[in-house]
Amino acid sequence: MKPTVLASALLVAMFGFAPLLAQASPSDTATVPQDQSRSDNVPPPQNIPYPGTMTVSVNATDLDHRIMTVHETIPVKAGPMYLLYPAWIPGDHEPSGPIRKVAGLMIHANGQKLIWTRDKYNVFAFHIDVPSGVSSIDVDFQFLSSQKPDEGSIRMTPEMLDLSWSKVSIYPAGYYAHQIQVIPSVTLPAGWQFGSALEMASHSGNTTTFKPIDYMNLVDSPIFAGKNFVRLDLAPGAKQPVHMDIVGDTPEDIKTTPEQVKALRNIVTQMYKLYGAFHFNHYDFLFSLSDKMSGKGLEHHRSSEDGTHADFFTKWNLKTPHDLLTHEFNHSWDGKYRRPADLWTPNFNVPMGGSLLWVYEGQTQFWGNVVAVRAGLESKDTGLDKLAYVAASYDMDRPGMLTWRNIQDTTNDPVIAQRAPLPYRNYQMSEDYYSGGQMIWLAVDAKLRALSHDKHSLDDFARAFFGMDNGAWNINTYTFADVVSALDKIAPYDWKTFLRTRLDGHEKITDGIAAEGWKLVYTDKPSDIADVLAKRYHAIDFTYSAGFSATDKGGLRDVRWDGPAFKAGLAPGMTIVAVDGKDFSADNMKQAITEAKDGSAPITLLVKNFDEFKTLHVDYHGGLKYPHLVRVDGKPDYLSQLYAPK
Ligand SMILES: [Zn+2]
Repeated sequence: MKPTVLASALLVAMFGFAPLLAQASPSDTATVPQDQSRSDNVPPPQNIPYPGTMTVSVNATDLDHRIMTVHETIPVKAGPMYLLYPAWIPGDHEPSGPIRKVAGLMIHANGQKLIWTRDKYNVFAFHIDVPSGVSSIDVDFQFLSSQKPDEGSIRMTPEMLDLSWSKVSIYPAGYYAHQIQVIPSVTLPAGWQFGSALEMASHSGNTTTFKPIDYMNLVDSPIFAGKNFVRLDLAPGAKQPVHMDIVGDTPEDIKTTPEQVKALRNIVTQMYKLYGAFHFNHYDFLFSLSDKMSGKGLEHHRSSEDGTHADFFTKWNLKTPHDLLTHEFNHSWDGKYRRPADLWTPNFNVPMGGSLLWVYEGQTQFWGNVVAVRAGLESKDTGLDKLAYVAASYDMDRPGMLTWRNIQDTTNDPVIAQRAPLPYRNYQMSEDYYSGGQMIWLAVDAKLRALSHDKHSLDDFARAFFGMDNGAWNINTYTFADVVSALDKIAPYDWKTFLRTRLDGHEKITDGIAAEGWKLVYTDKPSDIADVLAKRYHAIDFTYSAGFSATDKGGLRDVRWDGPAFKAGLAPGMTIVAVDGKDFSADNMKQAITEAKDGSAPITLLVKNFDEFKTLHVDYHGGLKYPHLVRVDGKPDYLSQLYAPK
């Protein structure tokens, strides 16, 4: 999911925040009643074909108002029925369907207006009574996409748009989504081009009609369209083609060099070497490079929505985190094809269970990072510097994990927190199944190598568990017991205890670093990746020293629970104005920490809290500390083997 998180999980580890650009706004989400039994007027989905074929036509030409206009025809029978707006969105793992942006809903039958009523307990369900003699209804509404970031992600700009079918369609209740056939069509601004996993049937003027597809896969097949568009072939001559459809703010932003195209093609070859099978008949990366449209990372079976900064290609740098594309592509195997049994739902209005998100997202976070290095999108040093920050967060910056919460419980967080910013992220914990899962899978990799005397690794698990049935793109569900059994076949061991100890426990989960032959250390120099991200996000990081992160203007972002700054009275709502009698700046703060090292005088901070100023004293004398990984001489270097191209 989305979370897109990719670079954001790293930013959380480093600076205690994720940029809004890559995050769903809390106001982008909606809720369903907790007591599902009270919505029992809505018929549960049955695994039988829905009679007839729906049409969904979207007009996406009103870029100035950022409105998409929807017209649907739905075959019906006389009598009562419910129509549903998708709530539980695959990849979001939460009821995030933005129903508050649906307006102007009108339903007609034979030209006569039908009265609809919303279900009393399920705001996503609309009840109608279909009169006798009616075999089809017309449904019209507008989707009012965000005008400002605080309304949710920006999905339409003068240059591009992101059309997600779950946002621009409603569908009949009572049937499995894959049993409902749909003919979709879209009208785009004149001269625009688009990318999608949908297969085209016909084209007339600016309207494209696609081949019929079931509703489950329609929702899984979004469209990126734009004025500035280019399509790259990432697997020339392959039986299962892979393309990258790029939209950009400017024609310059979407230009690529041969070196860049080579690295992008490496993603496909490295992923195939990892899994030995593709779970699609064709695949499209839908890639937006924009400083106007919000960033995104959302996986699909035969495509992914990948959105990042406009300068991705123009400021190409192997010291920048580039695991967005590898993360979302990895989900085609881990998440879309192999799906946790409790995360699979028959339609988009049945609640999901996230108990195995530490596999779905955790192992995807693991491979997304590894394959980014294997493919040459990041240098090995960058990959290891990123890993150091993840390890450091579980070494020092998860006080909540040592006391009250564990990785398993965080799998509930898509529903609990819905990506809302949190007051004390380090103590509350949030979607720690991403990077906590990454640490656990690193420990599994090392254990597999040790048990098999370096003959097997997590690569073997990935191939065995996710890589079967080349070409199949159905959904193949699994349970915790299946994961344990697959590991046991590669190297017999008490994997259940190994995993449960780390998932349910309150110990640091950094043991994989040492088991891979490396050691987490802290020095007074930040790594290159820390400098790159600090510049981009105007952030400064004293998490592992004084115990806080802030903007470069002193606005506190995260304060480590019970850390030196916390004990001095600092809180995330405050702004640091001065340090040791000088204006606050990153350099002055560094100097103050350095001067306080090994002495007894505290660091003196002037802070502003609402309209009050006060002086606080931080009793910290450990000097500057930034995480790095270093080799342990004499132990096998599993980590270098893991990150080496295959
Ligand atoms: Zn993901």
